[in-house]
Amino acid sequence: MTKLARFMAFALCAIFTMAQTSPPTPGAVRRNNYPRLFAQSEASEWMVVKCAIDGAPDRGNLDSTIAHLFGIEGAGYGNISDYFYDVSYGKVQLRVQTTVGWVDAPLKSAGMRALQRYQRVEQCMDAVPEADRPDVSHLYGIIGMADTFLDDGACSSSGQRTLHFWDADHTLACVWFDPASMMTDFAAQEFLHGFGLGHSYDNSTDDCGANPGEYCDQWDIMSSMSVFHFDDTNWPAVPPPPGPFVRGTWGGPGLTAPALLSLNWVPPQNIRNYRRGDGRRTYRLSALSHPVAGQPLVIRVGGDFDALYTVEYRQADGWDAGFATNTSVPARVRAAGGAVLVHQYQLENSPPDHPMSTLINNANEGAMLRWNTVRLPNATSGYYVRVLGIDTAHGFATVEIGEGEPPPLPFVQSPNGVQDHRTGATPSPLERPNQIPTSPIGPH
Ligand SMILES: [Zn+2]
Repeated sequence: MTKLARFMAFALCAIFTMAQTSPPTPGAVRRNNYPRLFAQSEASEWMVVKCAIDGAPDRGNLDSTIAHLFGIEGAGYGNISDYFYDVSYGKVQLRVQTTVGWVDAPLKSAGMRALQRYQRVEQCMDAVPEADRPDVSHLYGIIGMADTFLDDGACSSSGQRTLHFWDADHTLACVWFDPASMMTDFAAQEFLHGFGLGHSYDNSTDDCGANPGEYCDQWDIMSSMSVFHFDDTNWPAVPPPPGPFVRGTWGGPGLTAPALLSLNWVPPQNIRNYRRGDGRRTYRLSALSHPVAGQPLVIRVGGDFDALYTVEYRQADGWDAGFATNTSVPARVRAAGGAVLVHQYQLENSPPDHPMSTLINNANEGAMLRWNTVRLPNATSGYYVRVLGIDTAHGFATVEIGEGEPPPLPFVQSPNGVQDHRTGATPSPLERPNQIPTSPIGPH
């Protein structure tokens, strides 16, 4: 193709894309995507198979929501492809084909409910009339979509699997959704299972719905449904499923540093490594929602056959907007507009004994604010991570990392006018979870 032809193709494609998008709800507002860090995108192609279970007489806005939340129609309004473009910094382009019409499930809801999720997808794919069967050879995954409440989630938490339909085996990821699934807080996690990611943990032994510590990282989409989401008013209300569940139209949050590293969604130029012997270092750490080419976005601390930690700064905007609005977020974190988070990152992901991502929790649900210090055990004297400042206007935090005993905090003016010395020493949260003093600035 000549340069001109290529430009024309691009322009036509852009116009075509623009023409196809429309607001998912009348008042929906277009949003900016995160700046991209990867020059090249990789397409991840999926298709929706819409499966009519009991012949629901009225599907309400379900067809429109499917087309907008998964398809190109809702791009730019915070749909699922926006989510993946943003959190992968332009690396992943999720393309979802929503054009296959409703097919009748061969079983009623009781029969479907008795099947595994992947078996439901197989049943629905086999129900697609032969003349309407699209080419699936380029697909990464399939979204089985029910028009009634059945149960919803991923087919597997370890990526693609074998699906048998149309008299052949196919290697595909799959998710099974119903009308209550239609929000990023829920749906994004299930797609991420399709990309092979497990749930996230914190270092408590709390019961957040599964194994001790599982689903307890409220800053991470892999603990979804108990996270610091925002109320996403761009999307229609999600109908409440039967039973004791409450679901709103919840958006976000993004992913933690261990998840981003394991998916290779942070370019090497944006990763910094702090190793034993590095002394005391200060970093200007961009918010995960404000990436800057070449600037630190994630710090890996330790590793090399020793404990490995990550440091990230999360600002209350973009997919993390809930950190400023969700009333479950500690008030002082909401007021600060952002927080530094530290995780233990275990490359061998075999939950629950070795979860890949473990939030180092504290009395602020793991959020570290200015002057907060955390000590992290390693094979020798340990590391410390201290927050020196948070600059929400410019989207970064200043973080100091060192080894051994952290230096005393500077003298500062306390509210009653007395000079107050702040000691930085805190017990190791790994040894004593949830024992960090609640005040970020010590007694005063
Ligand atoms: Zn899950």
